[in-house]
Amino acid sequence: MLKVGKLKSIIIAGVCFYCFTSCVVRVHAQQLNCGSDAPTIQWEEKFQQLIQTAAEQHQVSQRNSYTIPIIFHIVHGGEALGSTPNLYAVQINSQLTVLNQDFSANAYNKSNYPANAFVNWAINQNIATAALDSNGRIKIADMDIQFCLAQKDTNGNILSEPGIDRINFVDKGWNNPNQYTTQSSMKNFLDSVIKPQSIWDVRKYMNVWVTDKSNLLTYGGVSSVPPLSGLPDIVTGATDQTDGIWCYAGVVGSSQLFPSGSYVAPNIDGRTLTHEVGHYLGLRHIWGDAACGNDFCNDTPPASGQNTGAPTYPHNVGSCASPTNSPDGEMFMNFMDYTIGQSKYMFTNDQKIRAQTAMINSPFRNQLGTHNLCSTPQTINQIGNSYDFTITPNPAKDDLNLRFNESNKYHIRVFHPSGQSMISQYAEGTDVKLEIKNLPAGLYFVSVTANNTSITKKIIISP
Ligand SMILES: [Zn+2]
Repeated sequence: MLKVGKLKSIIIAGVCFYCFTSCVVRVHAQQLNCGSDAPTIQWEEKFQQLIQTAAEQHQVSQRNSYTIPIIFHIVHGGEALGSTPNLYAVQINSQLTVLNQDFSANAYNKSNYPANAFVNWAINQNIATAALDSNGRIKIADMDIQFCLAQKDTNGNILSEPGIDRINFVDKGWNNPNQYTTQSSMKNFLDSVIKPQSIWDVRKYMNVWVTDKSNLLTYGGVSSVPPLSGLPDIVTGATDQTDGIWCYAGVVGSSQLFPSGSYVAPNIDGRTLTHEVGHYLGLRHIWGDAACGNDFCNDTPPASGQNTGAPTYPHNVGSCASPTNSPDGEMFMNFMDYTIGQSKYMFTNDQKIRAQTAMINSPFRNQLGTHNLCSTPQTINQIGNSYDFTITPNPAKDDLNLRFNESNKYHIRVFHPSGQSMISQYAEGTDVKLEIKNLPAGLYFVSVTANNTSITKKIIISP
């Protein structure tokens, strides 16, 4: 049964518009789109039945928490490590952090949410209290979904770089992805060559392909819709050979968390992947892919179309009439809109219900996180806090002071983001001083190993 809280319409397919203009590292004045297909009517009808069943059986309210293992297939042509598209592991790690923040109601910029945001919409539409925060605003929802970098490959071997599968397309005999200049030719190349020849079990991993692209190609991310049982999704073509997400390498990662990475402004916040993972979990664009269309979420006001740039609240007040979104306007800060990354910071409770419904029901989603792929004997979770340490000061200039929770014999190393080891020394006790005045300013990683377990922390060395 379809929700009827808003008069919105369905369309079968839509395109999205990400507004990518200038560039941090390269000049790349271009607007990029999101190439994800909207779900079919048949898919949405089936999905609405599943949402209703989930509600009747209180499936979502029983707090289902998931951790989805990700494998990033980085497809490169032998470029130096760290240059697009052959991104540093640290840049991939920064993307993971963004996903985990965004999906747990902890977006770095969520304090920008206005004090009265969508309070009138909530009252006028009689929105359920579960979808509201203590101020009566539409709540920034914790999706109860997190992500990890896969620690093991499909054979159970420990990955040398967690969550990363580097593929040289020359070795594979593939064409360079950057020679495909249209949406259809790129999709065809991805679906017929790259994906089937590199995909990992879609029931165990969320596959994300990261590649270069043609400057003529006008989109930067694509995701499949979660397939539903007994409903082969012809439009999205999401099979066990193609299910997953593609992103242009220039939009992956966070320049705040890893400033020396390679980014294409203004998409330097990792929000392209947040958006595409939304599609991967069954979310639709905030405007329903039509003028005042239906995204099947009652707690998101209707929108006349996609928003770009960085609007201020309230935005486009009265742009939709039935029902009116006046006086609160459109939810341009939702991750499923097309405003720039810095303007977005929320999912809503109805979006959470959709994502949770996909996790409970889709045959390509409902086993994710159940194969012990997130942990190895060396993860921080398993060693507890006994080897943990603090670093002061940070940023630092001359010396670092490491204080350990427990006295032990430690191997301390400092790495450049390229992976180059800059300092390697052994120490014993609880307090260790490390001289770093000879290192150039920038971001580094301090890795401490004891009894075959490692903890790595980020430091900044100031000029
Ligand atoms: Zn999209």
